[in-house]
Amino acid sequence: MNIVIFGPPGAGKGTQSNLIVKNFKLHQLSTGELLRKEINNNTKLGKQISSIINAGNLVSDEIVNDLIEKYISDKEYKNRLIFDGYPRNLIQVKNLNNLLKKNDQNIDIVLKLSVSLKTIIKRINERKNLEQRADDSEDIAIKRYKMYEKNIEPVIEFYKESKLLSVVDGEKSISEISDEISGLINGIKG
Ligand code: AMP
Repeated sequence: MNIVIFGPPGAGKGTQSNLIVKNFKLHQLSTGELLRKEINNNTKLGKQISSIINAGNLVSDEIVNDLIEKYISDKEYKNRLIFDGYPRNLIQVKNLNNLLKKNDQNIDIVLKLSVSLKTIIKRINERKNLEQRADDSEDIAIKRYKMYEKNIEPVIEFYKESKLLSVVDGEKSISEISDEISGLINGIKG
């Protein structure tokens, strides 16, 4: 079972991915996490991307495509991946499909967490001073949300047409969302 989960930045997809990992013994592949790790480790790539990420922009498709390839081709993770924050546009969808095909895998379900911009901003303000990330200011959040919406539209259409898309109300509580997601995953496991 391979899962794609997406939602606007701040929707709680990281939290829900962690719960899916725990409940279904999968491996989380978060491109945002991998990129932040590069920045924290001060690698060559990290230096190259830190200003892009902090400004709320997306890094190039080439960079993220390269990052995920080794996980898809790793036998240990075969049919056990949750893609969190990837794919974010149609180029990435095509790349993901090619890589999965090459490694004899596919996507079983795509979970879309729906959360309004108003709720995201409310959550950011509640979280401020607690665990503020460098890219967490309100203006940047609005920019990231709008960019997410613009890029993700064709991705949603693609997965809708592929009959893989399930929309989950991300405004609910963490446990309610998690229960709904578990139900959906159990449903496709048959
Ligand atoms: P996230 O934790 O998924 O919200 O990602 C944090 C930041 O990493 C994003 O705002 C982007 O700058 C970058 N990023 C993460 N995933 C991708 C992706 N699939 N394509 C391009 N940039 C990404």
